Amino acid sequence: MVMAEMRINFLFKCPHLGLLVQGSVTESVLPPEGLFLPYECPACGTIHFVDPRKSEGPQIPPQPNSG
Ligand SMILES: [Zn+2]
Repeated sequence: MVMAEMRINFLFKCPHLGLLVQGSVTESVLPPEGLFLPYECPACGTIHFVDPRKSEGPQIPPQPNSG
């Protein structure tokens, strides 16, 4: 029986292009905490070291109830 692996989506900043790029990994490839994962950047095609646990990018503030 094959269990579906949990996918983790994260954002990182491509140091070559300066763009925020979305990455996606399965839980099983997560490195130990505090270490970085070599990840092939879909934007520039080279390997960057990323920490999928710490998603960079715009913090989305909670929506105030506008009325
Ligand atoms: Zn890149």
